[in-house]
Amino acid sequence: MKNVDYIKTWQQTTQNNYGIPALALVKGKGLVVTDADGKQYLDFLGGIATNVLGHAHPAIVKAVSKQIAQLGHVSNFYAHPNALALASKLIAMTGDKTARVFFCQSGAEANEAALKLSRRSGRNRVIAAQGAFHGRTIGALSMTGQPAKREPFLPLLKGVKHVAFGDIDAMRRAINRKTAMVILEPIMGEAGVIIPPTDYLAAVRELCDKHGALLVIDAVQTGMGRTGDWFGYEYSGIKPDVITVAKGLGGGLPLGAMIALGNAATLFQPGDHGSTFGGNPVTTAAGLAAVSVIEKEKLMKKAVIHHENLLTDIALIPGVKEVRGAGLLIGIELDKNNASDIAKLMMDAGVLVNAANASTIRIAPALTVSPAQIKKFISVLRKVLSDDK
Ligand SMILES: *Cc1c(COP(=O)(O)O)cnc(C)c1O
Repeated sequence: MKNVDYIKTWQQTTQNNYGIPALALVKGKGLVVTDADGKQYLDFLGGIATNVLGHAHPAIVKAVSKQIAQLGHVSNFYAHPNALALASKLIAMTGDKTARVFFCQSGAEANEAALKLSRRSGRNRVIAAQGAFHGRTIGALSMTGQPAKREPFLPLLKGVKHVAFGDIDAMRRAINRKTAMVILEPIMGEAGVIIPPTDYLAAVRELCDKHGALLVIDAVQTGMGRTGDWFGYEYSGIKPDVITVAKGLGGGLPLGAMIALGNAATLFQPGDHGSTFGGNPVTTAAGLAAVSVIEKEKLMKKAVIHHENLLTDIALIPGVKEVRGAGLLIGIELDKNNASDIAKLMMDAGVLVNAANASTIRIAPALTVSPAQIKKFISVLRKVLSDDK
């Protein structure tokens, strides 16, 4: 079957919630993927910031193969060594021994878990940012600050207020003793890689402390080493009450986690929440393998070095208005509102990226990206933008 056959089958078999894809991908190795027509692409989107080690990484393949052959699933009636080992790793990453982990499968579920946890404080109001993305289930969508995604599904949860991202005065006006939680991405990914002022998170932390509200950091996109540290908020010096992760956590397998710290870690009581697959032996085996490779190969340090090089080179390309981000989560703002056209032309030229919004190209390649692959990306971007002039 060719790309066209798969696209036709897609339309005959799946619901129309995504729009129609341009390609069917059938193979991958490292940062190179192959479509059904045999054409190869350099993958600079990484399954949307998810394939931290690229495709078919030997460590992931080995860990998953070994675990599925030994014991595939146990449910949370029983403990499993992999889930416990990964939970210990995540606790160590927070730098706080009081942290406790709840495993799920996705970012939306991790944020749903945080939302339910916050209700156990006895309060039920939430503050989130305009433009933020926290997922598509009803609770997560209620916190997502993008009108186009929300409006078809109104009414959503009551008591959720959206304030301008990075505006501490707006946060100060919105927060009060009824606020259960404030949820923020350290860098807004889906909104187009938007960075808040450097002191914003610390100022929000102070307001949350003053009013007794939980501060939830949604590190689903920024987490697992992508931005140069484990969760993406560490530069701010704050300690959140809750951290949510997913995307990169499972090294390409569906795995999410809601990590609560300090008093927040004791809010859930037996029976309060659960997930059949949460902490599954196979997905946590993949997560452990991913974390171990990130540590061993110092991929977070490399992400920071790649960032500097990418930023310098991209900024010099005519047609680029601004380039921003952290580590290997980068938004490239173009002069024109033609990001989807540019993304399509880059695909034709053999590089996968996406348009986060009308004027912004987002890249989130595997942390294992090589300098040669970065060079190739830069040259294709330069060529596509110059042809477009
Ligand atoms: C992708 C994303 C989510 C949702 O994750 P899913 O796994 O698609 O449910 C939540 N928050 C952020 C910041 C994301 O980037």
